[in-house]
Amino acid sequence: MTDLRQAFASTENLIVAPGQLLLASGPRTGMAVLLQDGRFAEIAEAADLRTRHPGAGWIELPHHLMMPGFIDTHTHLTQSLGKSLVFGEPSEIFRRIWVPLEGSLDEHMVYLSSKLAALECLRGGFTAAVDAGTRSAGHVGRLADAARETGLRVVIGRICNDLGGSAEIADRHTILRTAEAHLAQYDGDPLIHPSLAISIPEAASDRMLRDVSTMAVEAGAIFQTHVNEHLAAVERSLVAGGRRPLEHLAHVGALGPQTLIAHSTLVTPSELNILRDTGTAVAYNPVASVWKGNAVAPALQMQALGIRFGLGTDGTRSDGFRLMDAAESLQRVSYGLASGDSSCGAGWLWLEAATRMAADASGLAAVTGASRRVLPPISCWWTSTGPNSPPPTT
Ligand SMILES: [Zn+2]
Repeated sequence: MTDLRQAFASTENLIVAPGQLLLASGPRTGMAVLLQDGRFAEIAEAADLRTRHPGAGWIELPHHLMMPGFIDTHTHLTQSLGKSLVFGEPSEIFRRIWVPLEGSLDEHMVYLSSKLAALECLRGGFTAAVDAGTRSAGHVGRLADAARETGLRVVIGRICNDLGGSAEIADRHTILRTAEAHLAQYDGDPLIHPSLAISIPEAASDRMLRDVSTMAVEAGAIFQTHVNEHLAAVERSLVAGGRRPLEHLAHVGALGPQTLIAHSTLVTPSELNILRDTGTAVAYNPVASVWKGNAVAPALQMQALGIRFGLGTDGTRSDGFRLMDAAESLQRVSYGLASGDSSCGAGWLWLEAATRMAADASGLAAVTGASRRVLPPISCWWTSTGPNSPPPTT
């Protein structure tokens, strides 16, 4: 692997010919990839690429599969130090663990936690991840530094809560100004993608929910929030306003293709229709359901309805292969066994949900998530890079 890293560090054109190349149509032999400046420039038959680029370097990897990198559609890089506390807890652990823990992180600890999480992502096959926003008192820049140093592509949410649920709650004007600065700071960044977030709908006013979601649309960014995960939150929302959280977001105008909803485990048929009709995306987090959730998101039903979704870890374990396994297994146990569905999407759906579909839900479809022949740069899961490595290929 060290030799591969050195080869990829070269600024010269490089052709990599794996034993199998995973394309959208399935695994193929005899194919190769042209790397230019650390990015995937072209995919074609190996012999053809070599003929057309005679000066390029050449690496054969006959015992390797080359495939798109996994994308974690929902995680929290600043929760690394609390994983051992969450399993088996009653619901809404964010109140007892995450908000206090993240709020206690100083600048250095934000960096260390994020660095550890980013390295775990790469080890588990993820070349990109969507961070839902740290609840620490600022220091988002150190989170970005940690991701950049590891070579992990990251969508970073900036928390915009104006009613609570974070270490610092500023006034409305300051929140919006900070959000604008966050979007501008990483605009055009090759590896860091800015995003806006509100932890849960009840952590923000209706006006803030709508304004932040709209701001994300105008910036071409995604808007993130956690919705319909815990029964207690659904019931509070009903008591407070007569609407379930997802219905509330629709009511205030915060849903749309720019919005990425984490969880959506407790969804009614009409809420599924809302997700479909608004083009809202969902992060299906199966391991999080096992560790701490109230239910399992009906991902197969979402797929059948055409609802956009990808797989997420929610900061549990960063292992892309086990995540796909959990995604299928939970659908089988929760829905397939009861209906005699012996397929439950089969392996292809969950591979798609961890790559191409995850890229779409994360707002990254233009830069990663799929292997296409002679099309824009894609990711390769084993091209994880270290601090001294060249710009990553993800
Ligand atoms: Zn989360």
